[in-house]
Amino acid sequence: MPRNDKRVKITLECTECKERNYITMKSKINDRERLEMKKYCARDRRHTLHKETR
Ligand SMILES: [Zn+2]
Repeated sequence: MPRNDKRVKITLECTECKERNYITMKSKINDRERLEMKKYCARDRRHTLHKETR
């Protein structure tokens, strides 16, 4: 399968402090919704909900 623009780089932003903590890849086909996941935030020193940014 060729690597093309169906996999995009996204940034995950902490919803608590708005820090951009993680950069990851996702598939446009599998994840049409904005990604949300619990991740550790160094600023908050705990796990918080992180959301995809543009
Ligand atoms: Zn945070």
